Amino acid sequence: MPDTFTLRVITPESIAVDTAASSVRFPGLDGLMGVLPHHAPMVAALDAGALTWTEGGVEKEMFVSGGFAEVRGDTVRVVTEASEPASAIDVERARRAAERARERLRRRGRGGQGPGEKVEEIDLLRAQAALRRALQRLKVAEHKR
Ligand code: ATP
Repeated sequence: MPDTFTLRVITPESIAVDTAASSVRFPGLDGLMGVLPHHAPMVAALDAGALTWTEGGVEKEMFVSGGFAEVRGDTVRVVTEASEPASAIDVERARRAAERARERLRRRGRGGQGPGEKVEEIDLLRAQAALRRALQRLKVAEHKR
């Protein structure tokens, strides 16, 4: 029996995952991060992307929209606004979200900078984040088995 830890993925709506895993990889803001059993305590901020883990020798994957991962004791806790396994991802919806975000970025590219610069900056970050979520959802959906 391999060494395992508890992996919990928590969203405002539910505990999406609560399982024994032998490894987990998550999309850290600075790149992909991996955790094995007996990892030192750690907290990391997450980007939107694929969370993958090994459960009973089987590799599993789901989309997470960002948030935090905490490693403490024998538990890895991922707290995220939204998460979906590939089978729950609505591809058309993600495509529409990507197109909306791209259109916002295009419109912004045509506009000038002015007194509302601060607001535009927030809109830019929001549009970029929405585009990242949509593209990562599409990527995870492609891996559907
Ligand atoms: P949209 O603009 O389509 O709402 P979003 O990236 O703004 O996308 P989120 O804020 O990340 O959406 O998620 C809001 C809720 O909608 C969450 O419960 C999330 O699981 C769900 N959700 C968002 N996009 C999809 C999708 N393409 N397929 C399935 N569920 C989705």
